[in-house]
Parts: sequence; structure tokens; C-alpha cells
Amino acid sequence: MPSISPKKPYRVGRSQTGLGLFATKRIKKGTRIIRYFGPLLDSKKKKDDDIENKYLFELNNRWTIDGSVRDNIARYINHGCKPNAESDVKPRKRKVFIRAIKNIEPGEEINYDYGTDYFKAYLKPIGCKCDACEKKRRKKRAEARAERLRLKAKAERKARRKAEKLAREKEKALEKEKRKLVRAKAKKLKAGDLNGKARRKAAPETLVAPPQTPALPLLSDQIAA
Ligand SMILES: [Zn+2]
Repeated sequence: MPSISPKKPYRVGRSQTGLGLFATKRIKKGTRIIRYFGPLLDSKKKKDDDIENKYLFELNNRWTIDGSVRDNIARYINHGCKPNAESDVKPRKRKVFIRAIKNIEPGEEINYDYGTDYFKAYLKPIGCKCDACEKKRRKKRAEARAERLRLKAKAERKARRKAEKLAREKEKALEKEKRKLVRAKAKKLKAGDLNGKARRKAAPETLVAPPQTPALPLLSDQIAA
């Protein structure tokens, strides 16, 4: 890692995506933090056009800074969708400075928006991992989780209501069955009662001995005799 003078308000450190540049002192909004530099590539020269790396910083149609050189500490600055710095391009001077657009506190990572072209080519395919996007992703995940829980709770409520309804219906059916049995029993009892009365009414007659009639020889006996 290249050495940085302790006078500078930044250091290279571990970030979400590898390495990044972090404030070591408070950097006031509007401050020029660091220069983004490297050899100038001329698009009019075919040879320079062949250079391809992700540290290329296009100044205009003709000039591009090749920022891949070791001493260009600014190349450690990561992209941010809600950045605290910006690239201040001076095309005529062919210079680029990174300037704070917010007050940056010690420990905060410094970042600037790399621009739409870079974003589309390098970040969108793998998913931007800047703080703003990570936060958005976390929020979305939390929302999705909350939604899943909500749907689960809803399904559980529905299942519980259904089970309760079934239980009520079963209970009602049982109740009905019970009432039916009670009615049938009552009917039976009543019928039994009537029989009893009939029996009691008939009883005196049955108790009275039938009038004695002289036994007549049966016709069959007579024939046999
Ligand atoms: Zn982002």
C-alpha cells in the first residue's frame, strides 16, 4: 500500500468492496481532498486507445487519465450513489480533483459518483455495494421479511378461524344429534307410558277369570273316537 503523509486527512482502509479511502480528520464541505492523476491518454493515438482498466477517467472526447498508477491514492476512492464528495474536472488543465460536497467526519469513507457509464458497465452487473445501495437492500430485505411474516400470520389466522368454525359446526352437529336422541328417548318414554296405561287398563280384565264354559269334546277327538 502506498504511504500517505500523516498530514493528509485520509488513509486507505478496508471497505465493503475491498479497499477504500477514509477520512482521518474532519473534512469540511467544499474542501479539495485529493487529486486524481496519472498519465494522460490521447484517443487520437491508436496505441493509447488499447489501454483498458477500471481506473480510466475520461476528461473529454480526447483526453483520459489512466489512474491505475500506484501513487494515485485517489484511485482507492470507491463509488457512492449518495456520495460525500465529487470529481471536479478541469478539462482544459487536464486535471481532476476530488472535493467534499458534505462535511466528512473522521472514520467516514470518502466516495464520489463514478457516473452513469461506469455504473452501467461495472457496478450494475454485480450490484452496487455502496452504503446507500446496501442500506436500500437491507431495507428491502426487512420489508420482504415483514411481508412474509404478515402473510404467515394472516394464513395462520385464517387456518385458526377455519378450525374454529369446523369445531363449532361439529359441536352444533353433536348438539343436534343429542337433541334428536333426547327427543327419541322422550318419544319412546311417552310411548312406553301409553303402553303402561293400556296395560293398567287391561289388567283388571286379564285378572278376571274367563267365564267357565263346560268343556266340550273337540271335534277332532270325536272323529278319533
Ligand atoms: Zn450504490
